[in-house]
Amino acid sequence: MKAVSSSVRTAKTPAGCIEYTLERKKVKNINLRVRRDGTVYVSAPSRVPVREIESFIAAKCSYIKQAQEHFRSRTETAAKERRFAQGAAVMHLGRPMELCMVQSAAESVTAEGQRIVIALRDSSDLTRAERLYAKWLDGRCREVFTNLMREIYPQFAAMGVPFPQLKIRAMKARWGSCHYTKGMIVLNRYLIEAPLHCIAHVVAHEFCHFIYPNHSRDFYSLLDRVCPHWRSDKAELERLVVL
Ligand SMILES: [Zn+2]
Repeated sequence: MKAVSSSVRTAKTPAGCIEYTLERKKVKNINLRVRRDGTVYVSAPSRVPVREIESFIAAKCSYIKQAQEHFRSRTETAAKERRFAQGAAVMHLGRPMELCMVQSAAESVTAEGQRIVIALRDSSDLTRAERLYAKWLDGRCREVFTNLMREIYPQFAAMGVPFPQLKIRAMKARWGSCHYTKGMIVLNRYLIEAPLHCIAHVVAHEFCHFIYPNHSRDFYSLLDRVCPHWRSDKAELERLVVL
């Protein structure tokens, strides 16, 4: 099921103007989704006129506005919780860890038990400390994600998939994506906050896209086979990590 065309439009509704992305696809009905970043996504068969699509959106306008507000306040709370400070709690692989900045001649970042210790010359220099922490976190993401990719890979090697390149990005609306023509998987760096099994299901999902570049029934039956618990892993991930 490949998209035929996609365009950004604005619908006038009783709750004000709502911007949405319209994708024409081989689907049976009009489907509407509010993404975590608040954007509205609509897919519709090409025979349905825009007028009909927009009255569908208008009928759902209070739902859309509520969903956008829900995501906005969740994002705001998450940003507050992620604020970088001495003694702040950060989630790391599903466990709360305490950030500790300590004075030291040599810079380093280490995870020690329940603490992430950031050593630097001036422990009150939060800008420098945050930079060191971000760099360390990038390294952790690469290590953890690559290990998960290696674990799942043999099943896909058997299907002729070359080992993909990994790209890590901070994303606001998705856990990952698969660029199957480039042989590349992109994973969200916020995944490092989740337990390993939650990250593993995203890796499995993206690997399955090398075989099926869509969300067809075949795609899901492959995902069920390689990652039988993906539904509960996904629900847990969505509960634990807010983008
Ligand atoms: Zn997908």
